[in-house]
Amino acid sequence: MTQDELFEHMREWNAFVRRHNANIFDVMFKDVDYSLKDEELNSIISDVALFFGLEIPVIKAHCDTLAKIELETGNENSSELYYNWQLLQKSGINNRDAFTLCMVHELTHLYFKDTRFLLCRNERWCHELAADYVVGIYSAFKGIATGKYKYVVKQLPMTLTHPKGEHRAAAVEFARECALKYSWHDIDSLITGLPAFVYGKQKLLNEELLQCVNDIREKKDVILQSEPLNIEDLPDNNLLKQAVLKYRNSQ
Ligand SMILES: [Zn+2]
Repeated sequence: MTQDELFEHMREWNAFVRRHNANIFDVMFKDVDYSLKDEELNSIISDVALFFGLEIPVIKAHCDTLAKIELETGNENSSELYYNWQLLQKSGINNRDAFTLCMVHELTHLYFKDTRFLLCRNERWCHELAADYVVGIYSAFKGIATGKYKYVVKQLPMTLTHPKGEHRAAAVEFARECALKYSWHDIDSLITGLPAFVYGKQKLLNEELLQCVNDIREKKDVILQSEPLNIEDLPDNNLLKQAVLKYRNSQ
């Protein structure tokens, strides 16, 4: 073995050892692959769709968020999958494994589009946790690194549609460990572990949902209570002020 070959083996071994680490240094600076082309990204999506036995959705390589899927009820062919590769790379989804898991998450929404989980008070949160649970299962099946994906979802805030990122990253890890432990090799069998995960966090999820709703109410109240806007106080280059003054002068 030459010295170069030895270094290459060491590099591969180090990448293997840190593949599930979710720290900023490993995520942003290690195992990064900015060379992936649109065709390669699209072929990853096709492979994942094939794994789920789904038709390939319409792929759009632009998005105002990291990635999203718009489901068309009653017709799988017309679902649209959006992603923003530039934004994904900046956030830490910066190689093949991380992008693959991101697409697994989105296509799980398509796979379970007619399923009602009814595991916690917010069904949207259940679907998000289910999608991250399947990410964990898929990573165990395919030996895919989860570090970058877990790091990125952990940073995402709680909203009415998405639970706290830390629960999402925990769902990935919980599912991966379950999938490695059991001999089942299909999503439908392994997703039966999802209730155990959600029930374990049910009290916390209910409290956080209440907090989320209260935060939204408070913000709404602040907007409703704010003083009426005096157009004269705005700077002269404000387009709203210019439009109002123009209207007044024309009267
Ligand atoms: Zn989602």
